[in-house]
Amino acid sequence: MIPIVKPFLPDIGRYQSYLDDIYARTWLTNNGPLVQELETRLAEYLGVEHLLLVANGTLALQVAFRTFGLEEGEAITTPFTFAATPGALRWQNLQPRFADICPDSLNIAPDCVENLITETTRAIVPVHVFGNPCDVERLSTIAQRHGLKVIYDAAHAFACQYKGQTVLQHGDAATLSLHATKMFHCVEGGAIIFKEREALEKARQLINFGFDRHNVPAHVGINAKMSELHAAMGLAMLDIFPEILAHRQALMQAYQQQLSGWVTFQEWSKDSRNNGAYAPIILPSEAHVFAVMDALQAVNIQSRRYFYPNLAEVSVYGDEGICPTSADISRRILCLPLFANMTFEEVSTVSETVKKALS
Ligand SMILES: *Cc1c(COP(=O)(O)O)cnc(C)c1O
Repeated sequence: MIPIVKPFLPDIGRYQSYLDDIYARTWLTNNGPLVQELETRLAEYLGVEHLLLVANGTLALQVAFRTFGLEEGEAITTPFTFAATPGALRWQNLQPRFADICPDSLNIAPDCVENLITETTRAIVPVHVFGNPCDVERLSTIAQRHGLKVIYDAAHAFACQYKGQTVLQHGDAATLSLHATKMFHCVEGGAIIFKEREALEKARQLINFGFDRHNVPAHVGINAKMSELHAAMGLAMLDIFPEILAHRQALMQAYQQQLSGWVTFQEWSKDSRNNGAYAPIILPSEAHVFAVMDALQAVNIQSRRYFYPNLAEVSVYGDEGICPTSADISRRILCLPLFANMTFEEVSTVSETVKKALS
């Protein structure tokens, strides 16, 4: 069986040594030494300044919105994303307005964003889809012109560079998911990268019930803290992450070589390099998607329709906006297996099966 994803587990001895320290200290959570160490080391590795670890990527979004006082009004986001993006907005009483995507980059189209701005718009929440950097310059210009906050859902953009620097420095904040299925993980976890130190300090209080330095609630807070056991997983993984990243990028290149001319790939920003977070292919029709899925399934290979459905066609978010490109792409896209210890032989097996189904 070739699974669609397989969470990476670091060497157990390495993880065990962190657990031994936790047992010796009996400090399990509440901004413990391992969380502090991971915050410092991750910020350094990613090349960012103001990084806050939180319990998961969904809370990262919610806490980021709260930090900027976004508690009502509308936020413009993409319908071509995971349910957490519009879900986090609605949970915060913000109404998502879905702007359509570009058919090549699969990211939110700045022109569509501009068309949706009204006097109730408060923020833009773009997603670096599959890690591909958004048009950050244009989005920033639009936001500045209209006085809007920009919070990037960067759940897929771990270790992603743009014009030689981390893509995570763009926006008032960018959020990461460190969930088990993501390329770098803490089992469950998330992070917020803020532009300003003051925002980070406020968020640090928000994730701990709103307590200030004197343990008096200064805000209505929540519990979104990362535990020591989760930080231990991240630390155990961080040392070997550069190798994982390089291997995933090589696997993705192998897919691109072997499937070139057979399928369409997402067009990656020319100022960035594919981080190998996902292996999406775009097919000519939904029927082709079903044919490829069936062929893969028949030889025990998993694939996943990601992102499907187009969230502008889902009623719970309260905006059935018209997004024809997102609707079209969601029906024709399929993610192939890609995980840290996948072999090149497995990539070939998957690619051959895809080609056979398409011939
Ligand atoms: C995974 C993911 C999230 C949610 O992260 P969790 O850590 O699972 O809460 C948010 N947005 C996108 C685009 C994701 O893929």
